[in-house]
Amino acid sequence: MTILYTIFFFIYGLVFGSFFNVVGLRVPKNESITHPPSHCTTCDRRLTALDLIPVFSYLFLKGRCRTCGQKIHWVYPLMELITGILFALAYWQLGFTWELVVAIIFVSLLVIITVSDIAYMLIPDKVLLPVGAVLLILRFLIPLDPWWDALLGAVIGFGVLLLIAIVSKGGMGGGDIKLFLVIGLVLGFAGTLLTLFLSSFIGTVAGIIMLRIKKQGRKTPVPFGPSIALAAIVVYFWGEAMLGWYFDFLT
Ligand SMILES: [Zn+2]
Repeated sequence: MTILYTIFFFIYGLVFGSFFNVVGLRVPKNESITHPPSHCTTCDRRLTALDLIPVFSYLFLKGRCRTCGQKIHWVYPLMELITGILFALAYWQLGFTWELVVAIIFVSLLVIITVSDIAYMLIPDKVLLPVGAVLLILRFLIPLDPWWDALLGAVIGFGVLLLIAIVSKGGMGGGDIKLFLVIGLVLGFAGTLLTLFLSSFIGTVAGIIMLRIKKQGRKTPVPFGPSIALAAIVVYFWGEAMLGWYFDFLT
């Protein structure tokens, strides 16, 4: 049965991932998420069910609009697939527990802000703040052990990022700082520190790769949100194991 439910969660994730693409792309532009309905941004044709099956439509249509042949950005199916995998992973690790609610909301937030940050280099407050408030309430109802670990994580995440922003004179966006506050609430103190280390490592590697691929100047900013999101997800699912190896190694 577990396998069956995992597959269900994967499918839910694919469908929600498709929705998260819309939210991540439209909310920062102050557009409605329901109107107008999904359409090709080049020829304006309204997309039908056939165009909107997550991942599969992209594969069947070979990544192009059926009418005008305009290339569909690979970020869409990638985010759908990633959301599917993350929902399945959340169920696989947690089963039908209350923490599963936290996991689903947390990964959903991270997917949406990744889409926004890739597209516009910003993390929308309109998504981050309400979802952050929901996670704050959930962390009181479904506490970490000890319960104040979430508050300590939030203070550390916010404080360290604020310090980096001040020292680097604007090298860190306000969205990243608020995002780390929410990450702190969910992951607690140790998980937040681990996410800080991991995200700066991922961000550095991503920056070097982008520099090689695009041959952009050093001044071209690389959005940091996706690196933070990836690090936070790794820590959420495997952080305890990672910290366990680390302390085994030390002792
Ligand atoms: Zn088109």
